[in-house]
Amino acid sequence: MSNEYITTIGLEIHAELHTNSKMWCGCKNDPYEKKPNQNICEVCMAHPGTLPVPNKEAIRKVITVGCATGSRIADFTEFDRKNYFYPDIPKGYQLSQYLLPIVSGGSVNGIELTRIHLEEDTAKSSHDNGMTLVDYNRAGVPLMELVTEPVIHTAKEAGAFARELQRILRYVGASEANLDLGQMRVEANISVSKDPKKFGTKVEVKNLNSFAAVEGAIDYEVARHIALIEEGGAVVQETRGWDENKLETFSQRKKENAHDYRYFPDPDLPKLYLHRLFDIESIKKSLPMLPEARRTQLTNDYGLKSDVVEIIISDPLVVIYFDTVVNGKDTKYATLAANYLVADIFGLLKKENIEVIAVNFPSTSSFSTLIDMIIANELSSRGAKDLLPLMIADKNLDVKKTAEEKGMIQKNDTELLKKIVEEVIAENPVQVTDYKSGKESMFMFFVGQCMKKSKGSGNPGLFQEILKGELGS
Ligand code: ADP
Ligand code: MG
Ligand code: ZN
Repeated sequence: MSNEYITTIGLEIHAELHTNSKMWCGCKNDPYEKKPNQNICEVCMAHPGTLPVPNKEAIRKVITVGCATGSRIADFTEFDRKNYFYPDIPKGYQLSQYLLPIVSGGSVNGIELTRIHLEEDTAKSSHDNGMTLVDYNRAGVPLMELVTEPVIHTAKEAGAFARELQRILRYVGASEANLDLGQMRVEANISVSKDPKKFGTKVEVKNLNSFAAVEGAIDYEVARHIALIEEGGAVVQETRGWDENKLETFSQRKKENAHDYRYFPDPDLPKLYLHRLFDIESIKKSLPMLPEARRTQLTNDYGLKSDVVEIIISDPLVVIYFDTVVNGKDTKYATLAANYLVADIFGLLKKENIEVIAVNFPSTSSFSTLIDMIIANELSSRGAKDLLPLMIADKNLDVKKTAEEKGMIQKNDTELLKKIVEEVIAENPVQVTDYKSGKESMFMFFVGQCMKKSKGSGNPGLFQEILKGELGS
C-alpha cells in the first residue's frame, strides 16, 4: 500500500451507426428528422406478430470499426433480449448482445478494448409539465456499444481516448459521432484505491455529452472519492449524472435498485456466422488511412507542427482535401498550404458563419494554384488573402486570371522595382539622412513607401534587397 491514490477508469461509449435504414426494419435512420414519429412502422413499434430482420450494413459497420481497432471479429454471434419496462422501449426489451459480441479485444491509443457489440437505440422521451412525450423516430436505430478495460488512469487520457474514437468512427464512416447530437454518448466508470492490487468501489457517470463533460466529471468524481475516504467514509456503488451548469455529479440510482435484465438469445433472429457472411480480409484491406497514420504522415512527410496536424486530422474530409492539395509537394509547400487552410480559410468561413467543412473550401485545384503562385513569388500574402474569399464564393474561379485582372500579380521585374526605389529615395531626403546617421528603423518606412508606390504589387522581399544596395547597408 502506498499513500498515493490510484485512479481507475473504464469507458462505455455508445454510437449511433450511420446507415440508411434502422436495425430491424426498413424505416429511415434519420437523426435529423425534427417531426416526431415520422420514421416508424409495425416492427419498430413492436406490434404483435411482427418479425425483425437484421440490418447487414450495421453489422458490417461494427466489423469495420473492429478491424480499425485491431480487434478480433467473432466467428459466431447472436442477439439477446435485455428485458426491462419503459415507454422508450416498446417491445419490453432491448435487442442487444450479451455473451457473444461481434468484436472483442483490440485497442485505441494503447487502451485495451473489452468488446464492441451491436444493439438498438431507444425512443426519445421528453418530460414536460408533468407530461411525458415519446418520439419513436430513434427507436430501433442501430447503436454500437464499445467497452474498455479498466486501464485508464486520468481524465485527460479518457478524453483523448474518446476524441480518437470519434475520429476513427468518422474516418471509417461508421457514425457521425457528434456528442452534442447524442450520436456518441460516453459513460465513465471511476474508482480510486491506494492498493495497486485491488480496485476501489466504482461509480458510473452517465449522460456525458461533451469531451469537457467527460473530463470534468472524472476529475470531480476522483476528488469526491478521495475526500470521502479521507473523512473515513466509503464510496457507494451507484450511477450518477453530470450537471452541466453546476459542474457537479449527482446520484441517480443506487446499486440495490440495479436492474436484473434476464438476458436470453432472441428466438426470432438468426444466429450469425460472421466469417461466412462477410469477407473480413477485404474489409481490413479497404480501411482508409486512420487518424494515427495521418498524424504520422503529416508530421514526418510534411513536417507540420502538432497543433496544425491535430486540426487537419480532426475531420477525415479535411485531411483528404489537404492531402489532395499537397500530394507530392515538399515541406515548404505543405507548411504554407496548412497555414492558409487552418488560419485563413477556416477564419474566413467562421467569419461568414459558414460551416468549416471541406465542401465549403475553395476547390483543391484553385487552392493549389494559389500556393504555387505564392511560392513562385507571383502573389503577395496580401494578394492571397484578398483572393481566398473570391475562391470560396466561386469554386470555378480562374485564380490566375482574376489575380491578373485585379492587378494582384506581384511585380518581380527588378528594373521596374529599382526605378521605384530610386524615386522613393529621391523624394525622402530627410529620412535618407536619418537612416544613414544610424536610425535603422527608417528602413521599413522605405519598404512601405515602395509598396505604396507599386500599389501593393511589388515583391517586398525584392524591394528590401534593392533598398539595401541603394542605401548602402
Ligand atoms: P457493470 O457490470 O457494472 O457494467 P463491467 O464489469 O461490465 O461492470 O464494467 C463496465 C465498465 O466499468 C468497463 O468499462 C470496465 O472497464 C469498468 N470498470 C470495471 N470495474 C471498474 C473499477 N473498479 N473502476 C473503474 N472502472 C471499472
Ligand atoms: Mg455498465
Ligand atoms: Zn420501423
